[in-house]
Amino acid sequence: MNAGPSGLHTVAAALRTARGHGVDRLDAQALLSAVLRQPRAWLLAHDEAALEGEAQTRFQALLERRAQGEPLAYLLGEKEFFGLPLAVTPDVLVPRPDTETLVEWALELLPVDISMRVADLGTGSGAIALALARHRPLARITAVDASAAALAVARGNGERLGLGVEWLKSDWFEALAGRRFELIVSNPPYIAEGDIHLEALSHEPRQALTAGTDGLDAIRRIAAQAPARLEPGGWVLLEHGFEQAEAVAGLLAKAGFRDIAMRRDLGGRRRCTGGRVVG
Ligand code: GLN
Repeated sequence: MNAGPSGLHTVAAALRTARGHGVDRLDAQALLSAVLRQPRAWLLAHDEAALEGEAQTRFQALLERRAQGEPLAYLLGEKEFFGLPLAVTPDVLVPRPDTETLVEWALELLPVDISMRVADLGTGSGAIALALARHRPLARITAVDASAAALAVARGNGERLGLGVEWLKSDWFEALAGRRFELIVSNPPYIAEGDIHLEALSHEPRQALTAGTDGLDAIRRIAAQAPARLEPGGWVLLEHGFEQAEAVAGLLAKAGFRDIAMRRDLGGRRRCTGGRVVG
């Protein structure tokens, strides 16, 4: 057995060391269970199990990266969203539980027994599109992203999960000219450039996070162009920052949307705004 970094010779010692690095206990357990390829419950029952030198070295490296603020999801290469295990890389935003609000709203608007056309703009890992595909097998879902690298992650997720989604490289509506949908959903970038919160998000793709000086550039574009891409009665649902609900409602109203409504995230903050085009 190779000698690994000191202080990591058993499961219990490794988890103690993680605490010393300031790494959250659950995160440390998740990382160690990935290194050892054992479920978390195994760790708890095997406190005194010895770690091979190689496992110690790999765990130490992951701990250091986590302590530097790298999202757990990138270190594990996986994140669960709406019950789906999704592969994630630093090419895509880590799917957030807040975005499940948008999925739930979309599911309310999509009948189970009717085939509707749905567009997901800026799909990233494919989280929204795939959650909708899983729960509405009849829906014809087109998911676009301007990043080819993101799209490769999304396509891989679709294949692994066996869910049929059309993946297109497109800067918002660019590649969708001439097409119409019953529903358009998007979790676009909505953070203002220079926002203090970006520091904590420095490992995630900037392109997926920021949109102009007020964070609304992407939403402005989507709101303005969505009516031409929607069937009469079709809806657009947008995720946004918790202080942007009124601004987004204003942009949708200006673009001619009616029945503008809003949904709150798990923290009770106004996180999604949507509207309907009338025929
Ligand atoms: N909700 C993310 C955050 O604030 C941002 C996601 C986005 O810009 N679409 O951490």
